[in-house]
Amino acid sequence: MQKEGNILEKRRKTRNTRHRQLIKDVLSRVYSHPTAVELYEMVKKEMPGISLSTVYRNLERLASDGMALRLDTGKGPARFDGRTNDHYHIRCIRCGRVDDVPIDVDTSMISKVRDVSGYTVLGCNTEFYGLCPLCRTEAK
Ligand SMILES: [Zn+2]
Ligand SMILES: [Zn+2]
Repeated sequence: MQKEGNILEKRRKTRNTRHRQLIKDVLSRVYSHPTAVELYEMVKKEMPGISLSTVYRNLERLASDGMALRLDTGKGPARFDGRTNDHYHIRCIRCGRVDDVPIDVDTSMISKVRDVSGYTVLGCNTEFYGLCPLCRTEAK
């Protein structure tokens, strides 16, 4: 009985690792900063049996382990990012789309912030906002 329990436990662990790895892989392949639901739709194509709650749980876990970024965009559900290096984001206030801004992060700002605040600065999460190219065209 005890032995059987161990085997089941082991299987569960293997499955969890496989889920987490797949979620991490899919997340790092896309640049759309998906919500948990959007990511679930993508992951499901590769692992049809996976549940939304598994995706939620693993995303939160990846974020707390520093293997993914959780972007709280203020409005709507959180978005996730497989790229954890410091980078800027820009968010569309109309459709909620979030893109990376491919410019160098101003590291001098971090030391300035440290000097005036007395904090040890671990990172920054700068978000620009505006209208994305598509919404800008539609707004005209
Ligand atoms: Zn937009
Ligand atoms: Zn990003």
